[in-house]
Parts: sequence; C-alpha cells; structure tokens
Amino acid sequence: MKLSLGGHSRRARGLWVAGVASVGLVGCGETLESPLSEAVAREPVLTYEEFRAQAWREPDTGIFIVDGDTPVEGEEGLRALYQDYVRDAESMGVSELGTQRAPLIVNRVNGADDQWGYLRQRNISYCVSTAFGANYNTVVQAMAQAAAAWQQVNVRFHHRSDQDGACNASNNQVIFDVRPVSGQSYLARAFFPSYSRASRNVLIDTSSFGNIAPWTLTGILRHELGHTIGFRHEHTRPEARTCFEDNNWRALTGYDAASVMHYPQCNGSNRGDLNLTATDVSGARVLYGPLAETDVDTGFYLSNHGDLVNAYGAANWEAARNHWLNWGIAEGRRSSAHFDVKYYLANNPDLVAAYGPTNYVAARNHWLNWGIGEGRRASAEFDVKYYLANNGDLQAAFGNNYGAALNHWIHQGLYEGRRASAEFDVKYYLANNPDLVAAFGATNYPAAMDHWIFQGRAQGRRGAP
Ligand SMILES: [Zn+2]
Repeated sequence: MKLSLGGHSRRARGLWVAGVASVGLVGCGETLESPLSEAVAREPVLTYEEFRAQAWREPDTGIFIVDGDTPVEGEEGLRALYQDYVRDAESMGVSELGTQRAPLIVNRVNGADDQWGYLRQRNISYCVSTAFGANYNTVVQAMAQAAAAWQQVNVRFHHRSDQDGACNASNNQVIFDVRPVSGQSYLARAFFPSYSRASRNVLIDTSSFGNIAPWTLTGILRHELGHTIGFRHEHTRPEARTCFEDNNWRALTGYDAASVMHYPQCNGSNRGDLNLTATDVSGARVLYGPLAETDVDTGFYLSNHGDLVNAYGAANWEAARNHWLNWGIAEGRRSSAHFDVKYYLANNPDLVAAYGPTNYVAARNHWLNWGIGEGRRASAEFDVKYYLANNGDLQAAFGNNYGAALNHWIHQGLYEGRRASAEFDVKYYLANNPDLVAAFGATNYPAAMDHWIFQGRAQGRRGAP
C-alpha cells in the first residue's frame, strides 16, 4: 500500500496530478470525478527509462517496487513487466473504456491464475520478525485480524511463531516472512503466489506505525494479504481512468470501487479504513472455494475425487457442490474429514434398520437434522465426544453443544492440528512421516488429514501412537 503518489510510480501520470495528491486529502471527502475526456488525455506510453525511473528500488534487497507496493525481481523482471505494460497500454483504445467492469481480479502468469493450490491454500504459513521490537505485538495482532478477514473463504494463514526469531527471506519453514523496513516509498508491500521465496515478504515500513488515518495497520495488511493470495489492484482497470498497470489479470466478480484492493486515491469510493466488501469475499470464494459445511467440505470433495477434477477442473467449486447435492450423496461419496456417510450408516445400526444399508440420502438428512445434535460420530477422524473430552477449553466453552464443537473443528481445530479421534492424531501422523512434512510443510494439518484418508491409511501408515 502506498501512502501518497509522490513521483515514484507510473501511476502518478498526467491526470492523476490534476486530482488528489495524498490520501489525507481523500480522507477529507474530496470527490474524484474524472470525466471521460480526462481519459482521452492520457499521457503517451512511457519509455523503458521513464518506466524504470518510476519504480522504487528497495535499498537492502535490490527488488524493484512498482504500482505502489508490488515487488518485481531484478532488471529482467522489470523489463518483462514493461513489455506487458506497453502491449496493454497500446492495445487499449479509448472506445474500450467503460465497456467492461469487474473489481476483484486475480493476477495471471503464463495464461493461468496466480493462486495457491488446494494443498497450500489452507496453510499459508508466515513468521513475524522479532526485529519489530516494541511494535512486534502490534504486528502479530494486526496480521491475525487481517488474516481473519480473508478466512471467510477456504483460505487459512498460519503464524509460525516458533520461526519469529529467524524470520528472514531465506527461512524455508514458512511461506513468507513479515519484516520491518524504514525509509521506503510505501507503507507496506507484499507479493503474489508465483513469486520465489526470496521475494515472498510482507515488508512494513516504520511510517505504518505513525498516524495513517483513516487507515489502520490492520487495514493496510488486509490489502497486502489480498496480494499474497493473488489479487491485483482493482484500479488497473481502464475504467478507473488512472493508475493503469497492465492487463495480466482475470475478473472474478462485478465492479466494486470500494474493494479492499482499490487504492482510494485512484478514483476509489472508499473513504474509511481498508475493509473487504461483500464483493471481495465473493471474488475470493470464486478462486478458493467456500468454507466447509456440516455435511460437505467442497474443497475436500472436489480435490479428492479425481473424476470430478477431470470433469470440472481443479477449482470449479460451485460445480463440485452441485455434484454433491445431485449425485454424490446418493453415491455415498466421502465429503469431508468430519462426515463420511458410509461410515455413519455402517456404525449406526438403528439407521440401517430404519433406512436400509445404502440409503445415503436418508442417512445424510439424519446427520444434519439429528445426528450431530445427538453427538453421533460420522467419521473415523472426527468424533465429537472425543474432541470435547480431550480438549478442556472446548468442553468449558461448549459443554455438550455438539453442533458448536463441530463448527469449531470445521473452522479452527482442523487447522490447529487438534486431535479429534482415538484412531487418528494428525500431529503424530505428520511428525512421523518426513515425506509429508517435506511435501506439505510441518504445520499443514489439513493436507496431512486428506493424505491419511485417501492414501496413508491404505498404505499401512500409522495414524496414532
Ligand atoms: Zn497493493
């Protein structure tokens, strides 16, 4: 996120100067109306020298920063980006302006969405450098709050506090590092999923700890974490009539000038702190899928049934969920770590007596309407009574409210690696299978869980001490 446009970025061209030159002024409620004639008056395409001069180069890393807060690796990367910019700028005729509107947009690399895959999206680990000193706790809390905002979809950030003492760009125990910098042109900067480990940093400038009203550090980090999962600046769209970057992106939803990814000073409509809008959440859901439900975890369901991936692609969550409702239930397919309809029927003789041994539709309805409320068990890996009995904090919080305990597992416990069954302990499983640690990461409990269910158990691996 960039505090003011200054003169460092190519966003600071022509028509911008006629508008507002700092976020502070935007905060005063000045209206930015840019008639189309201004777009017509757009400046000519920059030369490479001009383009390069508008990038900021981080003194310590040598990394170029473009578009306010986006790192580019090396002169080679900058040249490649420039070529994209020239291609897109020259192809954008004025007649195209305003014909397409869409706001949450994902970065594109080599013709594909720049996003985390299913095995990684639920365990995006990071450290927070202890070099923040007196600001360390502030950053830890702001990161947690910013992460929570994006976790309205099937994405989980995981703070590896055990790595905070060695939190740098070469720490391979984490996906990215969060470190302090000073004297930069930005408040904070981030990266896209396709970037190499060395560039996967969230750097927070000292200025972010001063008065940045109406923004907060948490708001700034909500924006930066959007980049870390692939989202581009909304204002690169030609309709913003300023701040053009390039066209290497794909639209996910309808237009929303208040998007957390839209700089207010680029004709955005947001005048307060940077928050996710409902449209931002919808767009993120298109890319990463919805949260798990009581009977189906759509990500788990699609990713672990190869025929569905072949039919729909690896990220068509809506099609996968419809498949579950229309066919998967009746076929008795496994739909989540916590609900396995075949297990449910096989281990509840009263249901077999009532519905028959293969009436999965009736069994699933029973689970939703009565089974979970009664504390029944519907999978080898999740036993709600075991979960409550062996987690004192949950027992204290939920008592015998089995539905609440299940929700805790679905949204939190699974990602914390909590044990929820006598037969399976995900922390034990990961700790005793170094190949899985190498493949997924030391704290990637959801990926380890899937591996156990669909591969590890059949391979004869041990699931518990
Ligand atoms: Zn940004």
